[in-house]
Formats: sequence, C-alpha cells, structure tokens
Amino acid sequence: MAWFKKAVSTDHTKTGASGLWATCPGCSRTLRDRDPATNLRVCPSCGHHLRLDGAARLRTLLDDGLWTEHDAGLTSTDPLKFTDRTPYPTRLEAAEATTGLRDAVITATGAIDGLVVEAAAMEFGFMGGSLGVVGAEKITRAAERALQYRRPLLIICASSGARMMEGTLSLVQMAKVSAALGRLDRARVPYVTVLTDPTTGAVAASLAMLADVTIAEPGARIGFVGPRVIERVGGHPPRGFQRSESLLEHGMVDMVVDRRELTSTLARLLRFLDASSVIRKPLAGPVETPVVGDATRTERPPSLDLSLD
Ligand SMILES: [Zn+2]
Repeated sequence: MAWFKKAVSTDHTKTGASGLWATCPGCSRTLRDRDPATNLRVCPSCGHHLRLDGAARLRTLLDDGLWTEHDAGLTSTDPLKFTDRTPYPTRLEAAEATTGLRDAVITATGAIDGLVVEAAAMEFGFMGGSLGVVGAEKITRAAERALQYRRPLLIICASSGARMMEGTLSLVQMAKVSAALGRLDRARVPYVTVLTDPTTGAVAASLAMLADVTIAEPGARIGFVGPRVIERVGGHPPRGFQRSESLLEHGMVDMVVDRRELTSTLARLLRFLDASSVIRKPLAGPVETPVVGDATRTERPPSLDLSLD
C-alpha cells in the first residue's frame, strides 16, 4: 500500500505570502513585513525572531536564494482514512492552498558560500509543520543523497511534532528518519540542524537532536511536550523552560545564533566540518549504503545549476 503519491504538477514555489505588516510578539511594535529576505523578520526593537516560512528559510540561507528541489510532488494518500472534525484530505487541501506546498517539508540541493549541501526546511504553516509519512520520506531521501554524494545535510526544523492524522504510521517515521541519519553518522558525513520556533514533539525527539552540531534561534520553544501538559501531570516547569537559551545552558544545543548571523555561521561551520579529515574519514568497518527500493529513489546527481524548478 502506497502511503504517499506523486502529484502531476510540481509548482511548489508559491509559498504563503506574508502580510504587509506584522505585530512583534515581543514588544508589540508594528513591523513592516513585506520583504523577509531583507529584514529576516527579526524585530529591530527587541530582537524577537518572528517565524519564517520554509521557502524563505532556503531563500535566505542558500547562495543567490536558489536551489533545486526534490520530491515536491509527493503528497499523502490518507492511508488511515482519518476523520475527526474535518477529513484529513480536506485539511491537506486547505494547507496546500495556504502554503502552495504539498507537505510540510521542502528538500533541496543548494549551496552555502559555494559549498554544495543537501537541505530540508520544515513549513510550520502546513499543518503545524507536522511530520508524516511524506515529510519523513523526503528527509530520508535527502539524507540518502547526502550520503551518496558525501555532502553536508542541513535541516531547518519548525514543527509541532507527529502528524496525528496518520497515527502510528507517523510515529514510526521517527525511527525511519533516525536510521537514515544514523547511516550518515557512521559514514562521517556532517549533519547540522537549526531549531526554530517551535521545534516540539516527535521532531524534537528524533531528527532535531541527532545532529553533529545543533543550532537554535534565540527564544525558540524547543521540547517534547509543552508546559501546560507538564503542569497537568503535576510538574512545575521553571521560568524560561524549553527556550533556546535554557537548552544551551543545559547542554541540549550547541549554539544560539541570531538569524542575521546564521548564514555566515553556517558557512564557517560547514566549511570546517567538510574540510575536517576526522569527519570525512569513514570509521573502520563497512558503511551501509542507501536502500534503493524502486526506480524513483535512484536519482542521478542533481545538476548544480541550482535553478528553481
Ligand atoms: Zn519587538
């Protein structure tokens, strides 16, 4: 049984447009919100980092704002025929109409300061950036490409967790993605994550925390379940709980980096990791190769013209 299908059209670049103005949640200042590529949606008054959509993430991080996207047409087949207040297919259609995407993950080949990388950006506007069968398959394929071509893998996380409408099928994606990332690890191919607000649930419990270097944006909520759930079971989360700065203090993330310095930080970091002989040299013993299940998974090396498709 296929858990996802490939749509005919692959026009995915028209992501949800930002409004002309936004109100800063940090200081309530009204901000011009017209060009995320220019102001990066960081409040000039208080430094609050407003959310960026997945395509804007790639546009601001990758050289010339260009990339080659992969698997843009994959979409869920609603394997459980799930309905709560709204049928799952109806929710998918609404999310697609809002974001212009067919699932909550964009995977791409691009470059950062000239270094070719495999990248994945999660789109919170698509059903809370939830990780389902399709998103996990796209990330797994990105990891397989990174392994095949020995390119660094970069994942920008923004997710509420598992895609509940896919039930257990969604939960097992944590293991699937983690296994793919494990193969990268054993092959010493660099893997870096950027955790943005919010990174929670199944994503926080798997791929977000498995990187060689874990970067967080300032003030991002990062954790498994939220404080209200913890309070309901008798817990008393401290002030600043599950924020980037707290996680840095407790050793859960390696760096908290201002979005305006993120590209230059990643460029230096990826160059360092890529050039490191320790990282590049495989460990003793066999290195697992990507599983090639069918013809759609055997891609030729992506062309590096990096044009938008
Ligand atoms: Zn502000």
